[in-house]
Amino acid sequence: MPPPVRARPAVASRRALALASWMKVTRVQIVTRGLTNCCPNCGERTLFKSGTFFQVNKECPSCGLKIERANDEGFFLGSMSLNYGVTLVVFLVPILLLAYNKIIGTTAAIVLAGLGSIVFPALFYRSSRSWWLMNYYIFLPHHLPANKAPVPPGQDENL
Ligand SMILES: [Zn+2]
Repeated sequence: MPPPVRARPAVASRRALALASWMKVTRVQIVTRGLTNCCPNCGERTLFKSGTFFQVNKECPSCGLKIERANDEGFFLGSMSLNYGVTLVVFLVPILLLAYNKIIGTTAAIVLAGLGSIVFPALFYRSSRSWWLMNYYIFLPHHLPANKAPVPPGQDENL
C-alpha cells in the first residue's frame, strides 16, 4: 500500500505561515495591548495625550505609529459604534431586564438609563478607541510598522 499523499498547505495557509515567521508583534500581543489601552505597535501607554482623558495622540510618541489618521473618520465612527454597542449590551439591557422583572421600579430604571447613557460611554471612551484600533490590527497585523516586511520592488505591500 502506498504511503498517503500529504496535501500541500493551501496557498492562504502557506502565506499565513510566511507572515507569522517575520511578525514581531503577534495577534495575542495586539489583543493584550488593545485591551489595556496601549499602543498596538510598541506596547507603551501612549494612545492618549498625557494629562487628558479624551485627546488621542496623532502619533505614538514612542514608536511613531499613526493613531489618529487624517481624513479617516472611520476610526472615530467605528469606535463610537463600538462604544454605543457596549453601552447598550452591558448597561442598558441589564437595566431594562431589571425593570421588566420588577426588581427596580420604572422611574429608577429611567433615571439610571438616562444617567448611564451619558456616564458609561464617557468612561468607556478610551477603551472603545483602543479596542477599535486593536480590531483593525487583529485583521491586518502586517500593517503595524513593527511587522512590516521588506517589500520587493513592484509588489503591493497590502498583499
Ligand atoms: Zn507605539
